[in-house]
Amino acid sequence: MTTHTPQSQSLDAALAAELDTLRETGLFKDEHPLVSPQSGHVTVTEPGGNRDLLNLCANNYLGLADDSRLVAAAKHALDTHGLGMASVRFICGTHELHRRLEARLAALTGQKDAILFPSCFDANAGIFEALLGPEDAVFSDALNHASIIDGIRLCKAQRHRYPNGDIAALDAALTQAKDARRKLVVTDGVFSMDGVIADLPAIRAVCDRHGALLMVDDSHATGVLGPDGSGTAAHHDGVPVDMVSGTLGKALGGAAGGYIAGSASLVAWLRQKARPYLFSNALPPALAASALRALDIVAEEPERRARLTNHAARFREALTEAGFTLAGAGHPIIPVMIGDARTATQFAAKLHDDGIYAVAFSAPVVPPGLARIRTQMSSALSDADIDRAITAFVRAGRELGVIPA
Ligand SMILES: *Cc1c(COP(=O)(O)O)cnc(C)c1O
Repeated sequence: MTTHTPQSQSLDAALAAELDTLRETGLFKDEHPLVSPQSGHVTVTEPGGNRDLLNLCANNYLGLADDSRLVAAAKHALDTHGLGMASVRFICGTHELHRRLEARLAALTGQKDAILFPSCFDANAGIFEALLGPEDAVFSDALNHASIIDGIRLCKAQRHRYPNGDIAALDAALTQAKDARRKLVVTDGVFSMDGVIADLPAIRAVCDRHGALLMVDDSHATGVLGPDGSGTAAHHDGVPVDMVSGTLGKALGGAAGGYIAGSASLVAWLRQKARPYLFSNALPPALAASALRALDIVAEEPERRARLTNHAARFREALTEAGFTLAGAGHPIIPVMIGDARTATQFAAKLHDDGIYAVAFSAPVVPPGLARIRTQMSSALSDADIDRAITAFVRAGRELGVIPA
């Protein structure tokens, strides 16, 4: 079989030209293969050979991605339960481990039940269409994750997008849509480009004034925020949330899987109607087993969150003192604001020369002129790692004139 039809040749030529444009405009995303597990230090293959880098860009907040206990739990499940279900959940794909994990996720988030998806992207892709029709309205923060944006596109509800964290604008949009049958406000618990924690008490208050439901995507908060690691609502002293989506791909081990937690009827309904649940293969039992182990560790080892918080506070304080401007607050995502996109790229390159892995983000991912190096702390890092990172940032900042020499 050949793929060299004239049609595919002309598609290839068009795509190659567009890829060149991405490269020329600095929008091309290069990938750097790791040859080590994901951890506080990683080994990356480079043209000159393998390189050990101090890693400041993983969502591995609790350092569980290479935890031997999670790996052992997954191996054990592979031995006892095999590789996968080869079925969607409702045919013959529901494993006892899925139900146990769902119950644990419900308990963690303070909800009645939970439903697993292959990813949080799929959870968000499935929920809006299942719940909302043309007589309903959905209100989404402008900085919400792409999966929420796409999920909303798939539903027929009236759509409102309010500027990031703008409660007055949300209030106005809810007023405008007052005749809608269901009103659903959806926000990220933590905005990942800014490291900002959503003001859930204020959002809840405006929801209550308008009889609106509140959904929070806690992908960057589960295992991280709140005294018990249960997320943004717990961080805000237990403000009520009607439904929560989240991922197993970040703090909870970093493998894969997503979920929605909510009322018993909500979850039961999603099992009937959410298309990524109905038409995509069930999560491998080994991943359910490792996530269950991760949830034990979240509960049993609060010192991981304490170390994470301590690293974040120390890194923030040192860089602020050195003269950097940082975005966000109170979360291990710490964006170091650079401004100019080219300078941000040079900054990341200097860090890389110093053995530090951190990524520069510029437009269109963030607003033009607000380029930044987004760092993410991890409890897998040592105090000495944080010191080394601080030294490297200060050196690069001085050399590039980002901070006073
Ligand atoms: C990472 C992330 C997702 C996607 O999670 P996956 O499980 O990797 O699909 C969804 N929402 C938010 C807010 C995220 O940060």
